[in-house]
Amino acid sequence: MSFSDLGLTDEIVRAVTARGYTQPTPIQAQAIPAILAGHDLLASAQTGTGKTAGFTLPILHLLAASGRGASPGKPMPRVPVRSLVLTPTRELAAQVEESIREYGQFLPLRSTVVYGGVGMQPQVQRLRGRVDLLVATPGRLLDHVQQGTVDLSRVEILVLDEADRMLDMGFLPDIRRILAQLPKQRQNLLFSATFSDEIKKLASGLLHNPVTIEV
Ligand code: AMP
Repeated sequence: MSFSDLGLTDEIVRAVTARGYTQPTPIQAQAIPAILAGHDLLASAQTGTGKTAGFTLPILHLLAASGRGASPGKPMPRVPVRSLVLTPTRELAAQVEESIREYGQFLPLRSTVVYGGVGMQPQVQRLRGRVDLLVATPGRLLDHVQQGTVDLSRVEILVLDEADRMLDMGFLPDIRRILAQLPKQRQNLLFSATFSDEIKKLASGLLHNPVTIEV
């Protein structure tokens, strides 16, 4: 089984090959085809399993395949985000965005990351440009929502990464407020190391006929 067998575009296969990956990890082998097929996903996966590539590779593929391309004519006031990844910590957010950049290096897609503990203004500046993929921690993302510096009304694919840690950190109310900003029609991917009743409740409200993966 290779990355191209999974149906990923050549630009992505080139990027993972350059990274030194020879074959998909078990979670990647299961998650990538399910995400490419448009399914919602409920994945129980620890860090170290390759879960990050498991969702970033197919998201990059889907966004590139249905590219909105350059928008000629008058510039839009704010270009809507197409995929949103929520993470519990800024370290994880930065890591995920770094992976997106690396795996997407041969694709015409842009990403950025926002998290708390640093100034808003540089983030506001970056959000003014085109952002196809946004990685964020919930609290800071809500600050941007409240200031009107991010447009989440066209998000096509949502990821909750390390959802159990986000709930442990008390982010559920923020997550609910963020969900209220998103269009109803979208693909949802939830990754969690553990499955408490709280996570199950969040998942059942969020996911539609999800493919379930355990590794
Ligand atoms: P993650 O679980 O996403 O944090 O990934 C754990 C580590 O595995 C990271 O250092 C990745 O670069 C690496 N990794 C991810 N996918 C593969 C793969 N298919 N082959 C080899 N290493 C990988």
